[in-house]
Amino acid sequence: MVAKRPIYLDHQATTPVAPEVIAAMLPYFAEHPGNPSSGHLYGWEAEAAVKQARICLAEAIHANPEEIIFTSGATEANNLAIKGIAEAYLQKGRHIVTVQTEHNAVLEPCRYLEKLGFEVTYLPVQAQGLIDLQQLDQTLRSDTVLVSVMAANNETGVLQPLAEIGALCQQHQALFHTDAAQAIGKIPLDVQTIQADLLSFTGHKLYGPKGVGALYLRRGTRIAPLLHGGGQEKGLRSGTVATPMIVGLSKAVELAMLHQATESQQLSQLREELWQQLQKIEGIYLNGHPTQRLPGCLNISVAGVDGNRLLRELQPNVAISSGSACASAKPAPSHVLTALGRDAALARASLRFGLGRTNTSDDIAQAAQHVIHAVTQLRSTQAATLNS
Ligand SMILES: *Cc1c(COP(=O)(O)O)cnc(C)c1O
Repeated sequence: MVAKRPIYLDHQATTPVAPEVIAAMLPYFAEHPGNPSSGHLYGWEAEAAVKQARICLAEAIHANPEEIIFTSGATEANNLAIKGIAEAYLQKGRHIVTVQTEHNAVLEPCRYLEKLGFEVTYLPVQAQGLIDLQQLDQTLRSDTVLVSVMAANNETGVLQPLAEIGALCQQHQALFHTDAAQAIGKIPLDVQTIQADLLSFTGHKLYGPKGVGALYLRRGTRIAPLLHGGGQEKGLRSGTVATPMIVGLSKAVELAMLHQATESQQLSQLREELWQQLQKIEGIYLNGHPTQRLPGCLNISVAGVDGNRLLRELQPNVAISSGSACASAKPAPSHVLTALGRDAALARASLRFGLGRTNTSDDIAQAAQHVIHAVTQLRSTQAATLNS
């Protein structure tokens, strides 16, 4: 007998690859094995596929195909954006602005640049996770080269006001980068409307393969490459172009665009069902913004329980994650939730539900039952220990 597997509610961490995506990728492993740089039939076939993918990605965000640089994912795209712009615009200044709730793939390149002598402002957020635009306005200076603000937060799903941020950057002549790893395919994104100069993608958060992504770079924007070698991607990203992965990324984006409206409605509804049921728990708090949020994301904190024990209790039945990084025995509370003003105990006792394409109302009902049961269980054992 095969053991029952936990219900997968961790789509913010990664998603399964869609069957259509696998089917699109398969021919490019063996049937069409060419290197897009080669000058023969095999090379041309691969080159055509990559060209088509570039058009598809560009269309999805209202960019031009030549503004797309393929990378290994959003971590690389963010590193290229931040370090590459910092190096290329040294003449303009050494000031960068980002936000405390960014993904580490933005925060760490910024910390690295600080060590090299750059100055970075890490903007705080308000209680519901949004930045204060007035504060951003006051932070921008003539030597600010880059502003990096994510489109959708990976822990809370909070959506930042990108168009307003883009307008402020434009006013102050600072370049605007947004990490859209969580947002692409889930909310409409138009680089013209938001006036973004750089935007990071990844495949595996939208039912594409892991290990592929892209950076949109507005025409006329200078950037220094991270990798030096064969000069692929106009010298901005050396390394043999990963044709099958790029075809997969493109198919995933195409599908996401096709189904965005219906999927978003479906996920919002499931998320509301889950939240409704979980509110039977006393001392439960929603983390993030009630409406300015990704459709499939629900992040909650439960008062008076140990977050790690709660996760362990749930593991056999529900695959979710905590807001905290569980690498160590005593995990640090999530930097995102503490930036929202949650105290360490509540930040540690958080659960992130990431709902996805294949989840059903039945999954949600079962998951809620498991969570309610686990919380009740933990609270009663904790009370028993206290009383003994
Ligand atoms: C997942 C994620 C990343 C990292 O993407 P990879 O493709 O795994 O490198 C970066 N930023 C955000 C917001 C993410 O959710």
